[in-house]
Amino acid sequence: MSEEIKNEKGGVSVETKNIFPVIKRWLYSDKEIFLREIVSNASDAITKLNRLISLGEVKDIDLQGRIDVSVSKKARTITVRDNGIGMNAEEVKKYIGSIALSGAMEFIEKYETEGAADGIIGHFGLGFYSAFMVSDTVEVISRSYRGDPAVKWVCNEEGEYELSAADREERGTEIIMHISDEGTEYLEAQTLRSVLDKYCAFMPVEIYFEDEDAEVKEGEEQPKEEPINDIHPLWQKNPADCTDEEYKAFYHKVFTDFNEPLFWLHINADYPLNFKGILYFPKLTHEFANMEGQVKLYYNQVFVADNIKEVIPEYLLMLRGVLDCPELPLNVSRSYLQNNGYVTKISAHIVKKVADKLTSMFKSDREGYEKIWSDIKTFCEYASLCDRKFYDRAKDALLMQVIHGGHVTLAEYLEGAKETNENIVYYTSDPELQAQYIAMLEAKGIKVVLFDKMIDTQYVQMLEGLNDKVKFRRVDSDITDALRSGEAAHSEKLEKLFRSAAGDEKLTVKCEMLADESIPAMLNLNEESRRMDDMMKLYAANGMAFGGDFKPQSTLVVNMANPLIKRLDVEESDSDALIAKQIYGLAVLSQRRFTEDELKQFLASSYETLGKL
Ligand code: ADP
Repeated sequence: MSEEIKNEKGGVSVETKNIFPVIKRWLYSDKEIFLREIVSNASDAITKLNRLISLGEVKDIDLQGRIDVSVSKKARTITVRDNGIGMNAEEVKKYIGSIALSGAMEFIEKYETEGAADGIIGHFGLGFYSAFMVSDTVEVISRSYRGDPAVKWVCNEEGEYELSAADREERGTEIIMHISDEGTEYLEAQTLRSVLDKYCAFMPVEIYFEDEDAEVKEGEEQPKEEPINDIHPLWQKNPADCTDEEYKAFYHKVFTDFNEPLFWLHINADYPLNFKGILYFPKLTHEFANMEGQVKLYYNQVFVADNIKEVIPEYLLMLRGVLDCPELPLNVSRSYLQNNGYVTKISAHIVKKVADKLTSMFKSDREGYEKIWSDIKTFCEYASLCDRKFYDRAKDALLMQVIHGGHVTLAEYLEGAKETNENIVYYTSDPELQAQYIAMLEAKGIKVVLFDKMIDTQYVQMLEGLNDKVKFRRVDSDITDALRSGEAAHSEKLEKLFRSAAGDEKLTVKCEMLADESIPAMLNLNEESRRMDDMMKLYAANGMAFGGDFKPQSTLVVNMANPLIKRLDVEESDSDALIAKQIYGLAVLSQRRFTEDELKQFLASSYETLGKL
């Protein structure tokens, strides 16, 4: 039969002759994708044959689809073999020699005009010709399932090919890549294997890997042949059929994280969205740990790339997961994806599912949900800040941690605070430093919540913006309204005394009658000016400088109910100034850390006080 193929020489196509240097120039950084392209062609060839079998168009074939990838460093070859549909001479000329090339050409043109910076996701669409990124000669040996004579096509990097009869009995295709200097690294069996694992770990056809140079020593048993991939990845299964153990095992394997995930979400969107995926919430090991999430994008079980923010909202990239989107147009630029309606819908669907998952966990197991809140808090706040839709859908499940016990939603807090502090939420940014204030508020039956992270500042601001009337006040801000027990007359003597004790003639001193008599004085910072100050500090920390002095306005509240203050007010003594200094120092100390000078002065006046005892 093989005589039927006449030896033939040709050039792949005149106008596309220069494709090889272009491929090499443009795709240098991403050249490992050649393996994905060649192996997925092999997988497609098997899928096609399977389809013909299931349609009854092909009989008498018992297809056990398999792909063999092998490497020989000695021979400088990488071979990909499949037992799929195969090609006859005409098909090789048609599919490999011309049409495919024009497809690749179109891709390169797009790549060149749209610019490398914009990037085409995972370089999808380059196809067979990506083999030339790592090869100087590529051989294709193929035999069609129809039984036509086997054919061999050899093409060099100038695009010149030779077609001849081949000696191959079995159905299928073998691609032998003769590796060039550019591809030398892939001749290392370990490197090639890891590229295979990266792109093909879930391809739908079994893939076997072999190092042709590896010698099995005498007496040693041949290692058991096992496919390197899982042809039925968990995301393809019906969520109802998956066990917790399977989800955990999948997580450990794919993300090489030995910690247990907190929980997960299996998305199985039907027509018209038609995508599947599993998103995991990882356990936090430190504050920003889950900022380094990883969402792997697949196209029909073929890995495309990690963390494609054009497809899923950036804040979801804090999670870990896999998404398989067979409808996604991947042979397009990133900017095109950003404005793609389908992509927007996928995103919206994922966000909705995540918010619903949180809400349902909150409702069905509040206790368990509160336990993991500290791990998911940053994610929830960040997601709320980035996406109003997320916030609107998840808001009933967003918690605040209460100092000295439990968690509340904003609605619950406000409901509980009706009698004491209507519409004001008191929070602390540092429960140790602000312990005095917290104690005073708690004594009045007011709950204090914890907002101690950088992101909390913006989150609190956002909550105020979205919830009319609600105000957030830090515990060391203007809180006298909550602590007052009656009206106090103002005392000029005390004002003067404390201004001079503070060494600040402009210090605002206010006389108040507080419920807690034990505290002589406290410092209150104006909430707005303090937030402004915090923001400026944050900008400065990020290297942005702003002019102007935004020192938070502070007020010294003198408690007229306190016995020591009462005495200071009515009696005149030599120790007045010293006592005022001590009281002022202690007020500062319970609000913030001393500066260097303040500490020295406070210690000096403390020693002086002791000396007088
Ligand atoms: P694409 O896969 O995007 O069509 P390629 O350049 O990768 O583009 O391949 C071109 C065509 O060559 C394929 O559509 C297919 O018809 C044929 N082909 C490639 N590899 C194989 C193979 N292993 N078995 C059978 N046909 C193949």
